Amino acid sequence: SVDTLLIPGPIILSGAVQKALDVPSLGHTSPEFISIFERVLKNTRAVFNSSASSKSQPFVLAGSGTLGWDLFASNFILSKVPNRNVLVVSTGTFSDRFADCLRNYGADVDVVEPPKIGESVPLELITKKLSQKKYGAVTVTHVDTSTAVLSDLKAVSQVIKQTSPETFFVVDAVCSIGCEEFEFDDWGVDFALTASQKAIGAPAGLSISLCSSRFMDYALNDSENGHVHGYFSSLRRWVPIMQNYEAGKGAYFATPPVQLINSLDVALKEILDEGLTKRWALHREMSDWFKNSLVNGMQLTSVSKYPSNMSAHGLTAVYVADPPSVIAFLKSHGIVIAGGIHKDIGPKYIRIGHMGVTACNRSLPYMNNCFDLIKLALQRKK
Ligand code: PMP
Repeated sequence: SVDTLLIPGPIILSGAVQKALDVPSLGHTSPEFISIFERVLKNTRAVFNSSASSKSQPFVLAGSGTLGWDLFASNFILSKVPNRNVLVVSTGTFSDRFADCLRNYGADVDVVEPPKIGESVPLELITKKLSQKKYGAVTVTHVDTSTAVLSDLKAVSQVIKQTSPETFFVVDAVCSIGCEEFEFDDWGVDFALTASQKAIGAPAGLSISLCSSRFMDYALNDSENGHVHGYFSSLRRWVPIMQNYEAGKGAYFATPPVQLINSLDVALKEILDEGLTKRWALHREMSDWFKNSLVNGMQLTSVSKYPSNMSAHGLTAVYVADPPSVIAFLKSHGIVIAGGIHKDIGPKYIRIGHMGVTACNRSLPYMNNCFDLIKLALQRKK
């Protein structure tokens, strides 16, 4: 029998999404696939809460979440603007890796961190940095999956607007699109990246991004800003492809993974049919119940402050005395959870994902079982 996967992505697929993988290959410029991809691109814009009139540009490409960092970095550090300043607002390991990726392309990166692991970065610190130096971009990891810290994007967006409106606002939304409130247009986001395998509820293998028209104007401006150091990652090559598909026409630069895109189509429809607001509320309810059970019910300490507005709703990270034994105990009962991955606090905690069907389909017993088993594992140790 197959274990129940309760790690913070990839997540358990709904039956319909899983079925959508098992389709015969379609030609990537066939009318059947064009109509699927057209809908996927339109629905991608919708799950980021952006309207077609904003002229935001979606990109759905073969790749994982990490490709989203490369997409931003390689289309931002252009040959005539080789070393731009970037402010990375770091709440954990994934924020730091985005910084690493940016440095790899030649960016001058400053990192701001919270006073304590598990907190978000104080807005005053971001304001101070932005008023001291001119930054081409600010990156924020909406939910850093290493700490389960949720950042207040609306507040950061206001700081950028007030202090440095020309700075691009870049968001790693890998662990947030589909489970956290997200307002691409209203918050003035310029580049948001996510992946298929978390709260979107599709298999791993797709990098999903949305760019503002302002960022597109910058990235496509060859005469002023120069060329892109990247081939597959060059948005200039992908823009006509995505625009053609969205207009109902086939186009080719590199072969799209048709089965994955077919399953993403079903996953996006499931989210939009339920409604984004409802979806976020269901994740919030599940997260509150689970965190409350562990923190108040079991006296465990959450890595991201709980209760507070700094805690993610798609995963829970809690300190336990002996993480490997808890993880092994759950595994022996058919439930897979994850360990800690933060460079400074290392493996002292466990992480449990509750995104997609495990949060939204209340008839599934997975989260209750998971809580009962964690409780049992910890009681056994006493
Ligand atoms: N950003 C965040 C916040 C993530 O959680 C992850 C993956 N866990 C990534 C980026 C990288 O995504 P991937 O593993 O799909 O490349």
